[in-house]
Amino acid sequence: MVAPIRIRFIGSGDAFGSGGRLQTCLCVESDTHRFLVDCGASALVGLRKFGVDPNAIDTVLVTHMHGDHYAGIPWLALQRAAAGVKRPLTVLGPEGISTRLPGLADHLFPSASPRPDRFQLDIREYASLRPATLGEAWPGGLTVTGYPVTHVPATNPHALRIEVGGKVIVFSGDTSWDENLVDAAAGADIFICEAWSLRPAAPVHMDIETLRRRRADLDCERIVLTHMGDDVLAALPIEGFEAAEDGMVIEV
Ligand SMILES: [Zn+2]
Ligand SMILES: [Zn+2]
Repeated sequence: MVAPIRIRFIGSGDAFGSGGRLQTCLCVESDTHRFLVDCGASALVGLRKFGVDPNAIDTVLVTHMHGDHYAGIPWLALQRAAAGVKRPLTVLGPEGISTRLPGLADHLFPSASPRPDRFQLDIREYASLRPATLGEAWPGGLTVTGYPVTHVPATNPHALRIEVGGKVIVFSGDTSWDENLVDAAAGADIFICEAWSLRPAAPVHMDIETLRRRRADLDCERIVLTHMGDDVLAALPIEGFEAAEDGMVIEV
């Protein structure tokens, strides 16, 4: 029997704090292991709020380089250093993150700059459509495949297909409708999808109308909405979809 995996929504909000929600951060965990998917600026607050020990997080996967998805990493790393955690924090993100993340950390906490080792970051990059494996993050391995999606190009945006513990968890990251989502979500146990507006409102974000129109192209039974803007939050519940909220835990 395959052990259940829990997905804890540390933050289910957008970049603007809509609905008073925290920025994007998922904690994927079993009884013995855990990792984060995205780590928005508010992630450390969220981890403490929902009872997750930040010093027990050793791995963060990143969809794209917008602050509401990765600006929490320096604070998480700094907290670990302050607590005396010697294990590095492994970050697996899109190409470019190995140069941009140290710069971000230096901007946010300059006094750490004479001692860059203080952040203890082990930064790795995935290439589009090339599965990357992080064997140490989970018994049996953790395989991550990034699918390029339609969002602000300077952030190198990807949806992530995450294979772990016999399950397939897919997260859209930020994107408007992109045909790559069809491949990314094929056969997934769960597809967590950003849904920023009810109708097409921004060329770089998903909307409910489009998601509903393309629902049949997504070969997965379960879709959970996250990263919702004000009009989507006001319309909840939305028929045919589950909706995340901060602190919510689902099992796959
Ligand atoms: Zn975002
Ligand atoms: Zn974004």
